[in-house]
Amino acid sequence: MKKNDYILIGILLILSLAVSLSVFLKGHASEASVVVIAVDGNAVGTYSLREDREIPIDNEYGHNLIVISDGKVFIGESDCDGRDCIAMGRISKGGDRIVCLPHRLEVYIKGGDGVDTVAY
Ligand SMILES: [Zn+2]
Repeated sequence: MKKNDYILIGILLILSLAVSLSVFLKGHASEASVVVIAVDGNAVGTYSLREDREIPIDNEYGHNLIVISDGKVFIGESDCDGRDCIAMGRISKGGDRIVCLPHRLEVYIKGGDGVDTVAY
């Protein structure tokens, strides 16, 4: 082993530590996670879980505002009866979902947890 090899190994070690640390810190909100919004069972949009944004959904069933913030998704506004979808709170893990039955709206997270099923 030459001196340069040790330096290279050192750099690789630091890099792998940095990568595992960042994966650890991000937890379930991995790169692969996407937010899927579906109405009537049809996907109307997919968004990165890592980009903060607000997505208004207005259709014949009513109004919803889906908010992506800080790696989490929640319904910020809804004019449905009961507002159960707002009460469902924030989701952040692959497989989690929020439904607004009166508006036939479904918001769920795909990917994360090493199960990358994104087919787009
Ligand atoms: Zn609702």
